[in-house]
Amino acid sequence: MRRLTLAAALLAGTSLAGPASAEESQRIVEEPLELTIQMNHARYPRYQEDWPVEVVAREMTGIHLVDATVGANTRTDENTGKAEALNLMLATGEIPDIVGSSNIKAFVNQYGPEGAFIGLNALIEEHAPHMRAFFEERPEIRAAISAADGEMYYIPYLPDGKYGRAYFIRYDWLEALDLDVPQNVEELEEVLIAFRDQDPNGNGMQDEVPYFARQWPELIRLVTLWDGRSSGSDTYHDFYVDDGEVLHPYAQEGYREGIANLARWYEMGLVDAEIFTRGSSSREYLLSENLGGMTHDWFASTSGYNASLADKVDGFAFKAMAPPASVSGVRMEEHRRIPIKPDGWAIGHTNEHPVETIKYFDFWFSPEGRRLANFGVEGQQYTMVDGEPQFTEEFLTNGKPVNNQLYEIGAQLHARGYFQDYAYEEQWTNEVALEGIALYDAGDYLIDQFLGVSFNAEEQRVYDRYWPAIRDYMLERQQGWILGNGDVNADWDGYIETLDEMGYAEVIEVMNSAYDRQYGG
Ligand code: CA
Repeated sequence: MRRLTLAAALLAGTSLAGPASAEESQRIVEEPLELTIQMNHARYPRYQEDWPVEVVAREMTGIHLVDATVGANTRTDENTGKAEALNLMLATGEIPDIVGSSNIKAFVNQYGPEGAFIGLNALIEEHAPHMRAFFEERPEIRAAISAADGEMYYIPYLPDGKYGRAYFIRYDWLEALDLDVPQNVEELEEVLIAFRDQDPNGNGMQDEVPYFARQWPELIRLVTLWDGRSSGSDTYHDFYVDDGEVLHPYAQEGYREGIANLARWYEMGLVDAEIFTRGSSSREYLLSENLGGMTHDWFASTSGYNASLADKVDGFAFKAMAPPASVSGVRMEEHRRIPIKPDGWAIGHTNEHPVETIKYFDFWFSPEGRRLANFGVEGQQYTMVDGEPQFTEEFLTNGKPVNNQLYEIGAQLHARGYFQDYAYEEQWTNEVALEGIALYDAGDYLIDQFLGVSFNAEEQRVYDRYWPAIRDYMLERQQGWILGNGDVNADWDGYIETLDEMGYAEVIEVMNSAYDRQYGG
């Protein structure tokens, strides 16, 4: 009945007002309404009221966000810094009207059911037509963000586009050595051996680094070539789903086989000897010095080296190759963009304007709001061309990274709940990357992802009690085996036994009880 009345009221309002301009239709309140906000993200430590995107949103909606960020200076690393700011906020005893943060999911799904945040289900149903339509179309996303009590407590940043990382290899080195692109793991090993031995960079020294990675877990990624798994999501070392059951990849046979072979490759010098320590500059260094042969990294940024190194490295051609077939013949690209992030925003329990706030959240899912969140301000960063936003030439060619420019004006903020539009990125993705993406699209190599679970209090207790120590132990053994400290095949039974003693089965049990509740239907 309530919905019917609301719909009738909406219809009546529309007919009375007559044809409304786009600006009027976004208006939420007649008199400007101020709402406080805490916003934390590593890239922008606090909310800025003068972001051009925010200025426009304020004009369109009448909602004026006021910065009330606590702990803005706790900029440490991805996993601790932001939770720390949220904990600081909680400790002050005052939760702002809106709380936006990276890694907010676990926080609100723990404290929301305890009353610190407002459940959003009914508010969305009644007042947020754009979000309601989105969740009706994507029920798996609704399931993924819901807390154990079935309520949604935050609106996430929803990435768009499928592709993330890919296998890249030096096509000019292959040509120099008269080799074909390797199609399976055996051929790949032969190519890496040739890179090691046959001087593809032509300087008379065996100085090539056949496989390298900016992030060392991209070495562990290669266990997929032996039918193991390294993660179930875009987060390293995550659980994965196999035939409806949640498992951890580092307790499976394919992983054992993969690690045994990667340890062998490491010993043979097919893998960067400094893979665990060289760090984030390794791609830049090994490519610009003409030393690196192959990696697994992001399409756009890795492809970009073809242009930036064209003058420095003669004939440089570092392009995507299809995932080599595994020992059982499976070609898999384990990494992809996840459709939902644990980042976004929520409504604090003392907010006296939850209806206006959910309408404001919904604004960012409207066509106008979504365009503002993705592309910035019309006439400044983009213009409309044939009905579609197109970044201006000046914006794309001024030499500054596009993403950074957008963060600086308040667009593409992951601490805001919004639905990304891949078109924003396609406009500045280079041709080599688009070619690679087309190759991966044709082969259909992506696999489904584990979208995470929300624990109830008891499950959370079990997970917190056992998991951190198990994970540390897994990673410690993993690195040890690669570096030759122990033999994974000889150690395996003892390793599995230790995992059991540490509570692995208990963790798997709570993962699966939460998973079944959330996705079981
Ligand atoms: Ca050489």
